[in-house]
Amino acid sequence: MSKSAATSHLLPVFARADLAFARGEGVWLISTTGERYLDFTSGIAVNALGHCHPHLVAALQEQATQLWHMSNLFKSPDGERLAARLCEQSFADFVFFANSGAEAMECAIKITRKHHAALGHPERYRIITFEGAFHGRTLATLAATGSAKYLDGYGPPMDGFDQVPLGDLDAVKAAIGPGTAGILIEPLQGEGGVRSPPHAFFRALRELCDQHGLLLIFDEVQTGMGRTGALFAHQRIGVTPDVMALAKALGGGFPIGACLATADAAAGMTPGSHGSTFGGNPLAIAAGNAVLDIMLKPGFFERVQQIAILARQKLASVVDRYPQVLAEVRGEGLLIGLKAVVPSTDLVAALREQKLLTVGAGDNVVRLLPPLIVSEAEIDDAVERIERACVALSAAPALQREAGR
Ligand SMILES: *Cc1c(COP(=O)(O)O)cnc(C)c1O
Repeated sequence: MSKSAATSHLLPVFARADLAFARGEGVWLISTTGERYLDFTSGIAVNALGHCHPHLVAALQEQATQLWHMSNLFKSPDGERLAARLCEQSFADFVFFANSGAEAMECAIKITRKHHAALGHPERYRIITFEGAFHGRTLATLAATGSAKYLDGYGPPMDGFDQVPLGDLDAVKAAIGPGTAGILIEPLQGEGGVRSPPHAFFRALRELCDQHGLLLIFDEVQTGMGRTGALFAHQRIGVTPDVMALAKALGGGFPIGACLATADAAAGMTPGSHGSTFGGNPLAIAAGNAVLDIMLKPGFFERVQQIAILARQKLASVVDRYPQVLAEVRGEGLLIGLKAVVPSTDLVAALREQKLLTVGAGDNVVRLLPPLIVSEAEIDDAVERIERACVALSAAPALQREAGR
């Protein structure tokens, strides 16, 4: 086959905006043309401490002069420390470090299957998942995601996932069979449109898991690391899983994922049963420890909660005033969804015109994911930009009608 004459050699799997950034400072991104944008994407819930946080910069610079990569053939004192800190803050006894959310989820799926195999029930490998979920793009996590638009063309989806409607407890009960190993859910669906069932649903899932000997798996890749106003979203729900996947904000922008599990859940995992070349790389671990240094300071999450309440109130008032553009504010903490009346892609584009960066999601929702360090003044600034975008979008159809006369 001949070589393509395409102007970009990046595999064209992303619909990229015609905009590039040269650097970032806190909540701000500076484009290659020198324009300042307010970043309410945080690299999709990754840059939780904003861009170039001085403590993270110092930690990575220091680590870069010491050791970049060390294989898991040897001990990792700093990895031990990050794992111990994550366990101390959670239900977990063990942590496996990976490089991404999908890999953390792969490990969660493998731990769940192996748990039952180790108990003498290898036939119990099926995991119940929920409509609207997003668990990643590898073949197993895509099968767990279960969305036709992502699975199309990749052959038969991997076996072992039974998807039911979100919040439908009867459907969950009906799906539990002799082959069921666990139940996998996001405490708050991010990609799916900032949707979550009531807390009672999570409590009911916990009870079902206990009754049937199933593992409860939380995908906190997006909700974890402070996004919803607690280190982990399930802490605000008051329901504890057996296995949990983390990634996105864990390294504050450095790629790292983690799968956390109780000793009981991870009983099947022994030397050789899982692995990763880069997982727990010293640079990633340094970033992870530096993120925790900041997040575990007293008052960090209280401040996130306060700023989130403020943002929520101001956004609710914008929704009231522009019902022709916005229908609803939803979400938890600083994982905020604006359900749009106009196409959500139009809203994201109109906000970008106002130099406010946001992310689309399912269910015609636009996600606002500011860095957790966002100030009150920056929230006010963003709300003004959202208002201006609403004005522009309200005027647009009228203008079009006039032009069409
Ligand atoms: C982003 C995301 C993933 C996948 O993470 P990657 O790092 O892109 O592989 C998995 N689950 C949830 C809930 C996510 O938001």
